[in-house]
Amino acid sequence: MAERVIPEQVRQRLLTTLTRQLGDAHVLTAPAEMAPYLSERRGLYQGQALAVARPGTTAEVAFVVEACREHGVPLVPQGGNTGLVGGAVPQGGLVVALARLNRIRQVDPVNFTITVEAGCILQAVQEAADQVDRLFPLALAAQGSCQIGGNLATNAGGTNVLHYGNARDLVLGLEVVLADGRVWNGLSGLRKDNTGYDLKHLFLGSEGTLGIITAAVLKLFPKPRQRQVAFVGCRGAHQVLELFARLRAAAGDVLTGFEYMSAFSLELVARHIPGARRPLAGEHGAYALIELSSPDPAADLGGRLEAVLGRALEDGVIVDATLAASEAQGQALWRLRESVPEAQTREGGSIKHDVSVPVSRVAEFIERASAACEQALPGIRVCAFGHVGDGNIHFNLTQPTGMEKQAFLRQWGAFNRLVHDIAVAMGGSISAEHGIGLLKREELRRYKDPVALDLMRTLKQALDPQGLLNPGKVLPPAD
Ligand SMILES: Cc1cc2nc3c(=O)[nH]c(=O)nc-3n(C[C@H](O)[C@H](O)[C@H](O)COP(=O)(O)OP(=O)(O)OC[C@H]3O[C@@H](n4cnc5c(N)ncnc54)[C@H](O)[C@@H]3O)c2cc1C
Repeated sequence: MAERVIPEQVRQRLLTTLTRQLGDAHVLTAPAEMAPYLSERRGLYQGQALAVARPGTTAEVAFVVEACREHGVPLVPQGGNTGLVGGAVPQGGLVVALARLNRIRQVDPVNFTITVEAGCILQAVQEAADQVDRLFPLALAAQGSCQIGGNLATNAGGTNVLHYGNARDLVLGLEVVLADGRVWNGLSGLRKDNTGYDLKHLFLGSEGTLGIITAAVLKLFPKPRQRQVAFVGCRGAHQVLELFARLRAAAGDVLTGFEYMSAFSLELVARHIPGARRPLAGEHGAYALIELSSPDPAADLGGRLEAVLGRALEDGVIVDATLAASEAQGQALWRLRESVPEAQTREGGSIKHDVSVPVSRVAEFIERASAACEQALPGIRVCAFGHVGDGNIHFNLTQPTGMEKQAFLRQWGAFNRLVHDIAVAMGGSISAEHGIGLLKREELRRYKDPVALDLMRTLKQALDPQGLLNPGKVLPPAD
């Protein structure tokens, strides 16, 4: 998308207005101060911006948006900048960093809700819930730096979706600054409210293109009193899926995590992550990491898990398994799974996919996509892992041994096409949890239903007629 040219006098006028309201310390223009806001961690995009504004209240966010509207300057909301699709990278305009909106406004343990500002770090929200003996279940490896506003704007997933749902499912109410500077106060803590359109869902997952989320009422849950973690070896992905179906049927709601690791992903972790140990004696075709948890301290989770695993062993569905004997052992098993991206980076170039298919087709997808990639580039190494219980696989590809890294990465687009075509043909999605941002924007043209794309454009036009909110993200420019 062609970048909007902002005349120097307009920039100066805007900066003077913002500085008067926010103070010098919160309008950054020095290159060194702005640098962390202009790039993203994968190094795929380098952005540029007129300045970075750091409002500290909802009223200040509204002021900033109104000032941008008056001056015709686009703006990019930014949370922890941990997004993986380039959504928070500015392409000109103003970065609106939400980090200073970091108050926990209210905790209501009886309503099982917490009201937080958008700039709260996810981990701080989890801790605030914990202090009143409740659980806020959204959990992802970036939780120490991502912000709840970013989580909601990307409809983040993570490792607890199987039982608790993704970010969208955890929200009761929102406060949003609209493109015209008005504040929509939708901070409802109601679980039942059928008074017309459910507006919060417009903003959840909209990646900053329809409004700036400034606060949210989030659902809390009873805190688990015990958990049981197991690591299981199977012959392949089909057996992992069979085990999942058995466990879900037998354990129901206490099955709170079910993750997949291919043999190669465990091999990489064992090779590259200091202290990582293979939890099972032999090597197997595929692995499952399982977590059962319950708020009932008397629930016999170990017994239930052992019963299902025992039968699965007898039936040849699994080959080997180990149950964590302590919380520390359980955490060590989880670390194996969480270390896969880092281990993959250390192995060399990787081409990533965050796709989903119906859960029942996950194994078939892995098989088909692996065969297609191996045929396209002999020696390519498939590093598939992820949230198999949600049908969400991070179908990542590691460069063939000895291949030049850049030569491999130049094939990113071609492999995306191959893998995305297969996922979509199987009723799947090209973005399960990371969003669209810049990275997958053009893919929407190919894969999104044209009527849906048209409706998305209609909403964008209605809510942001000047096109100032995070322009160039999510929606591909009209032909
Ligand atoms: C190690 C690691 C592990 C990860 N694991 C997962 C995972 O398991 N599941 C998963 O879903 N994601 C995962 N991610 C991706 C990322 O953490 C999530 O997308 C997260 O929700 C982004 O939050 P953030 O605050 O960093 O947002 P940012 O990166 O700052 O922004 C993301 C998008 O949201 C918009 N935005 C930010 N704040 C607001 C706001 N207040 N109002 C409106 N729009 C806003 C931005 O403009 C941008 O488009 C991972 C990332 C890393 C680095």
